[in-house]
Amino acid sequence: MAPLSTITPIEYLKGVGPARAEVLKEELGIHTFGDLLKHYPFRYIDRTEFHKIKQLHPDMAAAQVIGRLVHVEELGERRGKRLIGHFRDDTGTLELVWFQSIGWLKKALQVGAAYIVYGKPNVFNNQLSMTHPEMEVYKANSPQQGNPSLQPVYNTTEKLRKFALDSKGIQKLQTALQESIGTQFGETLPDYIVHQHRLMPLSQALVAIHFPRNSQELAHAVHRLKFDELFFIQLKLLKNKLLNTQKFKGHRFDTVGHTFNTFYHEQLPFALTDAQKRVIKEIRRDTASGAQLNRLVQGDVGSGKTVVALMAMLLAIDNGFQACLMAPTEILAQQHYHSISKLLGNGTASVQLLTGSVPRKDRRVIHAQLEDGTLDILVGTHALIEDAVRFHNLGLVVIDEQHRFGVEQRAKLWRKNRTPPHMLVMTATPIPRTLAMTLYGDLDISVIDELPAGRKPIKTMHLYESSRLRMFGFMKEEIGKGRQVYIVYPLIKESEKMDLLYLEAGLETLQNEFPRPQYQISIVHGKMPAKDKDFEMQRFVKHETQIMVATTVIEVGVDVPNASVMVIENAERFGLSQLHQLRGRVGRGAEQSYCILMSGSKLGKESKLRLETMVRTNDGFEIAEVDLQLRGPGDLAGTQQSGVLDLKLADLTTDQALLTHVRNTVIALFGADPHLARPENGRLRDYLTPSEPGIGWEKIS
Ligand code: ADP
Ligand code: MG
Repeated sequence: MAPLSTITPIEYLKGVGPARAEVLKEELGIHTFGDLLKHYPFRYIDRTEFHKIKQLHPDMAAAQVIGRLVHVEELGERRGKRLIGHFRDDTGTLELVWFQSIGWLKKALQVGAAYIVYGKPNVFNNQLSMTHPEMEVYKANSPQQGNPSLQPVYNTTEKLRKFALDSKGIQKLQTALQESIGTQFGETLPDYIVHQHRLMPLSQALVAIHFPRNSQELAHAVHRLKFDELFFIQLKLLKNKLLNTQKFKGHRFDTVGHTFNTFYHEQLPFALTDAQKRVIKEIRRDTASGAQLNRLVQGDVGSGKTVVALMAMLLAIDNGFQACLMAPTEILAQQHYHSISKLLGNGTASVQLLTGSVPRKDRRVIHAQLEDGTLDILVGTHALIEDAVRFHNLGLVVIDEQHRFGVEQRAKLWRKNRTPPHMLVMTATPIPRTLAMTLYGDLDISVIDELPAGRKPIKTMHLYESSRLRMFGFMKEEIGKGRQVYIVYPLIKESEKMDLLYLEAGLETLQNEFPRPQYQISIVHGKMPAKDKDFEMQRFVKHETQIMVATTVIEVGVDVPNASVMVIENAERFGLSQLHQLRGRVGRGAEQSYCILMSGSKLGKESKLRLETMVRTNDGFEIAEVDLQLRGPGDLAGTQQSGVLDLKLADLTTDQALLTHVRNTVIALFGADPHLARPENGRLRDYLTPSEPGIGWEKIS
């Protein structure tokens, strides 16, 4: 058999075997020795510090106490049943509380014995307690072996515990792992980088992360491994970017011609904002350079991204190319199509719409026009990616709402021309800088950070259920002025049935409060057939109805400038970016617009912060920062495809400085050695060379 290494299947590890290997794969995705090595502890019990009971405080995240278990009793009935352990040291008493495994615990706990307990201190009725503490019989003068001063705690699951793979069990496997493959792993970074940045060598870090001797060593190890995680993501992203600009000569858009100029000087119904002008200049500069444009345009809802996209497309047309715009939903594609057609008027450029619901025969016409080059601009949905769609000469692709499309789809569009078209990606979801660097590190970023002049900031208020009548009164006032109102309900898969019931109840109240024929209500929700949805939506757009009751389907899409009030029911159940997107549906016209957040009176800390943030600011970037802090990147749009979720240690919220530092390191690296040709960069070259798969992590043995 091959010598044991990080690529050895996990069943060959001493103490694992086929059954345990199976659950390790299933539950933790651990297939190999290397996977186990990378299963880092998620925290450490600080065995160097002990607290006295008197010192415990509910603000402490966790604490460790030595004392004696003096008495155990079972209290309560059925669901309220619990086991209480009375625990004492020389300064006070602590109640240990268990709600589960009571039968087993009653047998296992040794009344009268000394224990080390570890858990989060709580106070209830003036009594200190810990729920489900970790317990270990205290042996004075026990040898420190296998019980390091910082004891690792590993993620595990119920199922793994059944196989004796609780945190301690995994710790044992880690020890066995070190015994079998040693503690020497191939360095991944070039030596000079390790030295320059005073990083802990990889081998040392991989040992220390599991068995740190002290907190300083742990901090160094964590730093080193975070550095690695971020470094290799940036290396790949920036390498791609470099390749794209070098290998793929972009179409050169030399001229700003008739189409662009006519539109700009004669058709554009408003003056561009400075931010719009700046972004158009950036696009113009990129496309004139002969390099491949790969740009992300971030702009808050209503910042006017469409016209920027359109002007970029006109630039393409002026230079003899076609352009296309892809939107994530049919509604949005339609809207883009209509607003672009309207802006262009007749004759400036030809535009067509291609979506799933375009009839076959119309489609054929479009296909033909595309291929013979008579069609200038194609707007559509995923239908654009289909193989049947072939362009005569595609020069620019605009993708709206990037996060809904995968990288693969981007690539497909890219291949639609021999010379890849320029790529412009638009997103209305402001992404904090750090995240953008990681998610879209291969793109340049432009920001439209200014709303068109004359737009009044939306006023946002937060009302409790008790103010519902006041809210209805306000709606009536606005409708009386000729305005329209959205009312949005949450509809979440997990609670779909309840949510729909709630929506129906709300609708009934509304119909009583706003009776026909004076008031007309549209209703749109995700469970309706597309045809009905569209019909209802159109009624609202045509102002045949004053109120639109909807679930989040209106999150993207619909542009009804006359709608001036957005009521969000159960606002505490929406995420921040969703709330912000919804609010962006109003404030599109000249009138003062309002957003009313309705919520129950009992709010958790985070819900409260979300609603407060919404009331405080209209700035999408500020909101995105709060969102990132609240939720972490995992829930943010777009993260699935980016590798950010594979980050085990680095945290994009708290490690912004490190990320910037690492990115600059990689930029400098490519600046000095773009092809990684220098011997000292050999490891990185190997890592990026696809013909030798698996170099790097898999081969570190
Ligand atoms: P978003 O960035 O959300 O996609 P849109 O492109 O849909 O925004 O623009 C929102 C509205 O603002 C549209 O009706 C558009 O015509 C209008 N608009 C765009 N730019 C300007 C501007 N510079 N001045 C006035 N109105 C503008
Ligand atoms: Mg838009």
